[in-house]
Amino acid sequence: GSLVIAVDGTSGSGKSSTSRGVADRLGLRYLDTGAMFRAMTWWLLREGIDVGDTAAVAAAAGRPVIESGTDPLAPTITVDGIDVSVEIRGDDVNAAVSPVSAVPEVRARLLDLQREAIGSGGIVVEGRDIGSVVWPQAEVKVYLSADPDARAQRRTAEQGGTDVASTQQSLLERDRIDSGRATAPLTMAEGAVHVDSTHLSLAEVIDRIVELAQE
Ligand code: C5P
Repeated sequence: GSLVIAVDGTSGSGKSSTSRGVADRLGLRYLDTGAMFRAMTWWLLREGIDVGDTAAVAAAAGRPVIESGTDPLAPTITVDGIDVSVEIRGDDVNAAVSPVSAVPEVRARLLDLQREAIGSGGIVVEGRDIGSVVWPQAEVKVYLSADPDARAQRRTAEQGGTDVASTQQSLLERDRIDSGRATAPLTMAEGAVHVDSTHLSLAEVIDRIVELAQE
């Protein structure tokens, strides 16, 4: 089918687990656009490019070859053929990804790759600007949110860590930059349904979105 489900929201709102679960239930592919921004950031850091230098980042944005595997049960991300699924979740990438994502040339490059991956549809796509910029014609648009405490606790547990306070600080800093940037800021897209997952289980959020898709 040609169905496209756009799932946007803040860091740690449960977008990834939710989107993968929905794709699995409905037999759809899955695209994690955050992983693409993270892969670009990982590559810039590895190349020794100063991620605070907007002109340098813009000039390099066309160079890495970034490929996403879209199986919801085993998503992959490669840069120049190297699987970076683990590396892109590191603290160095967490700290640099929001400023990198604010550079228009980075967004333009990844927008092309995202639209190419969506193709003729049949996919759940998660990110910040899917319903507003990448695929405004999506049949289902969800804006997922949760209280900062809930988000920090989930993200810390996911990473097997214990420092909830520093995880929360890092999430809130990314939200601040993602919401305030000039190009494609995080906002609730026109026609999006707001789902607050603070007091819902993962299964409940998945059910809610599957229902929306079947309406
Ligand atoms: O979703 P995730 O937290 O992995 O995304 C990492 C970062 O990538 C976000 O904080 C944001 O800066 C950027 N991003 C974006 N647009 C998207 C997806 C992610 O700017 N569609």
